[in-house]
Amino acid sequence: MKKMASKKPKFLFVTGGVVSSIGKGIISASLGSLLESRGMKVTVMKLDPYINLDPGTMSPFQHGEVFVTEDGTETDLDLGHYERYVSTTTGKHSNYTAGKIYETVIAKERRGDYLGATVQVIPHVTDEIKKSIVKGSQGYDITIVEVGGTVGDIESLPFIEAIRQMGIYKDGYEVAYVHLTLVPYIKASAEIKTKPTQHSVRELRAIGIQPDALVCRSELPLPKEHFDKIALFTNVDKNAVISAHDAEDIYQIPLILRDQGLDDIIVEKLKLDVPKADLTPWQNVFKASKESDSKVKIAMVGKYVDFKDSYISLSEALRHAGFKNKKNVEIAYVESEDIQKNGTDCLSKMDAILIPGGFGDRGIEGMIQSIEYARKNSIPFLGICLGMQAAVIEYARNVLGHNDANSTEFNQDTSSPVIAMITEWMNEDGSTENRDETSELGGTMRLGAQECLLKEGTKAKKIYDAESVIERHRHRYEFNNTYLEELQKDGLIFSGFSKDGLAEMIEIDDHPWFIACQFHPEFTSSPLRGHPLFQSFIKAAVEYSKKN
Ligand code: GLN
Repeated sequence: MKKMASKKPKFLFVTGGVVSSIGKGIISASLGSLLESRGMKVTVMKLDPYINLDPGTMSPFQHGEVFVTEDGTETDLDLGHYERYVSTTTGKHSNYTAGKIYETVIAKERRGDYLGATVQVIPHVTDEIKKSIVKGSQGYDITIVEVGGTVGDIESLPFIEAIRQMGIYKDGYEVAYVHLTLVPYIKASAEIKTKPTQHSVRELRAIGIQPDALVCRSELPLPKEHFDKIALFTNVDKNAVISAHDAEDIYQIPLILRDQGLDDIIVEKLKLDVPKADLTPWQNVFKASKESDSKVKIAMVGKYVDFKDSYISLSEALRHAGFKNKKNVEIAYVESEDIQKNGTDCLSKMDAILIPGGFGDRGIEGMIQSIEYARKNSIPFLGICLGMQAAVIEYARNVLGHNDANSTEFNQDTSSPVIAMITEWMNEDGSTENRDETSELGGTMRLGAQECLLKEGTKAKKIYDAESVIERHRHRYEFNNTYLEELQKDGLIFSGFSKDGLAEMIEIDDHPWFIACQFHPEFTSSPLRGHPLFQSFIKAAVEYSKKN
């Protein structure tokens, strides 16, 4: 592999215009995959203009999934896209919110670090943003920085100003800017409209940033004359106007961008001397998604199903497993409260049932009913986090006869607290921390990657084909080991434990595929690698579909 021309740190800033939710995260991640395939060590960061310190306490209905990184940071779901497209592991320096930046600035002011100066957005807040960006870039050849929100928002201004400054006062680095806009198609007049893009770039240029490339989100490929027009009005080279039309699959996007030479434009701007992109692995993923034949139907019985982004890593992990099994995975999102009201009939056409993670007692009984249905009818079942806790409750109630079994999260007075909060925690430094139901919600969870030791002779061990696995956590409650012996005696197999003896995985023997885990395997699945647990689950669903 050729050496890069200069050792200066490289930054690629991705901004968005016109409207939000047009896929800035996926475009940033795809750019990452393109640059990685050109031999570079890439990381991707997200700057979020909202005031929350992190998305950990935000409702999944508002903000979608909370993605948990290996080091246990609760982050924006876009970091999930980054890890699915790029082989990097993100962490606490990969996601900065305005709240986090201001928290640091205010702490410094209180300490007297600013030596009596009037603390202002420029330069103090913008300096802190720049420092955070540089911190997140350590150890990488190139850092892609996605700026949340749309250009013109009041909240995002300090971030845009900071990235502008990084382009002017380069402090030893090379910088490129990509702007993502929407090019709407007006059905009534059958016309493609470039005006919003013109305005959005004008707004960006008014702040002082001239984009090096424009990625235009549109329903259909942009007609030739529109490239010329956009280029003319935005001062962007015609070849650097890229059509990001609706893809057949989100994993086709790196191919669409590469085919129009977007990576070449960035490589040139950043003065890189790197080989051409080898996108064979992505071509194979796209091929697998296209060649997947008949469907398997998976019911995802959860409580945030009306907003699909709440389960995005999970839905993607199921699709990745589908690619590996050459099957199209169709996910039926079932509201668990509907099962409570109308019963389990809607599950009868499903090839497998999955209960995802969640918080709070709404819909729990519907999940327990669905688990009972899967267990009794030999339908493949996967429980994740809350899904495992609900599976333990179901087993304790319906097999052991502890009718009142519950988690103390849902009933503090249950006579059988099979899931409970551990009130005294030992921190890594040996100090202890006391928690109870009233502890602050932010930052009181078992979070991040931990080792799970797998038990000999179990399905889990066979699937992972390893002594132990590292998986990510995000929960407050645990299986209560007081009930371990009793449940084991009555047939529930505990197939994985943490090093300090917390139950991590359960399974049932006389069932084709009934496995649940306390961790979130979906956070480590990627389209290139897949994930053994999901692959095996989908395989079981395929087998079930053949028989039924
Ligand atoms: N609410 C449960 C807990 O806090 C499960 C959390 C989850 O599913 N992520 O333990």
